[in-house]
Amino acid sequence: MSNFETNAIRIQAERSGAKEHSVPLYLTSSYKFDDAEDMRALFANEREGNIYSRYSNPNTSELIEKMAVLEGAEAGWATATGMAAIFTTFAAFLKSGDHVLSSRSVFGSTHQLLVNVFPKWGVTSTYADLDKTDEWESLIQPNTKLIFVETPSNPGIDIIDLEWLGNFAKKHKAILVVDNCFATPYLQQPIKYGAHLSIHSATKYIDGQGRTLGGLILGSKELITEIEAFARHSGPAMSPFNAWVLSKSLETLAVRMDRHCENALKVAEFLESNQEIEVVKYPLLKSHPQYEIAKKQMRAGGGIVTFVVKGGYDRASKFMDALKMFSISANLGDTRSIATHPASSTHSKLSEEERQQVGISQGTIRVSIGLEHIDDILADIKQALELTKLALA
Ligand SMILES: *Cc1c(COP(=O)(O)O)cnc(C)c1O
Repeated sequence: MSNFETNAIRIQAERSGAKEHSVPLYLTSSYKFDDAEDMRALFANEREGNIYSRYSNPNTSELIEKMAVLEGAEAGWATATGMAAIFTTFAAFLKSGDHVLSSRSVFGSTHQLLVNVFPKWGVTSTYADLDKTDEWESLIQPNTKLIFVETPSNPGIDIIDLEWLGNFAKKHKAILVVDNCFATPYLQQPIKYGAHLSIHSATKYIDGQGRTLGGLILGSKELITEIEAFARHSGPAMSPFNAWVLSKSLETLAVRMDRHCENALKVAEFLESNQEIEVVKYPLLKSHPQYEIAKKQMRAGGGIVTFVVKGGYDRASKFMDALKMFSISANLGDTRSIATHPASSTHSKLSEEERQQVGISQGTIRVSIGLEHIDDILADIKQALELTKLALA
């Protein structure tokens, strides 16, 4: 089994008993040992097996194994949320005095960790722009332990050349961590380019239907062992139920992503041709500054389109209210199309200047293009633009 779709469907937890075709849910907090000797051997790490669901569970193990194969990684770890995956990674590898070089465009809560949480423990960080790699060298410090990036970024849809970044991290002997949430392993495999860890908020496209929270960390056995050493005792474990849902969701990841990408490209092309729009950012638009890099490292452009409507906040909020089918929500990667106004929601904790630096203005709208029929998606955007155009006049 070597193809993505087949692995996503056919990798299944080992089991015996009822011969069920679909893997059942192992809703158990702990496991029995055969005898006292078995218990001793498991605790002494002489034998592999389940001890307690904070450490492992057949459903989380299945999800991890599948995701590791899909990402081209040796091993992995599952957490309750995407933020738990990011926190766990930082906490497992950073100590007081260490420095993190991070892309400036990061998820709002990742920004909070870097500026408000880790400094309490003596860990500092510097931001670098994804599109200005010539500046990165000067931002490295002797104590730079970890490099963290999101590509494509949220919501700016900026992209960094992963091949360049893999070499850069190697040269500086830093652990390279890529938040691969927007792309999923179906569109992009950072480990192939030298990333040490690929991280996911499984809440987004891995679930793909807006039901459960989840996080995943994939990488080498060596690094995952360090993650495990921290996570076993600090307890960010994913619930078996969520792992069961997410593993089933992976079975349809490829077909879902194909359609998300196909729909999103059509939306991006439509918006680019519309006079009510100032700018559109989508990886596979020729106008994207990193279009060539996107084509090199991504199978397709993903499901997120970010654009700026003419008329600032007033127009942006009227446009959102005029949408009939799109949901107004802060989530993304759902079957249902979603519109978000980052400046007043996901990125409201940033100052106006910080927002400008990551390309968010008051007119910026991020849409997560769902799996509804493309004609209905386009019709909703068109009518909302048309309606608010009249309101402005
Ligand atoms: C949502 C998101 C996260 C955080 O994930 P949660 O599951 O909400 O904790 C991290 N990074 C990116 C890029 C995200 O979109």
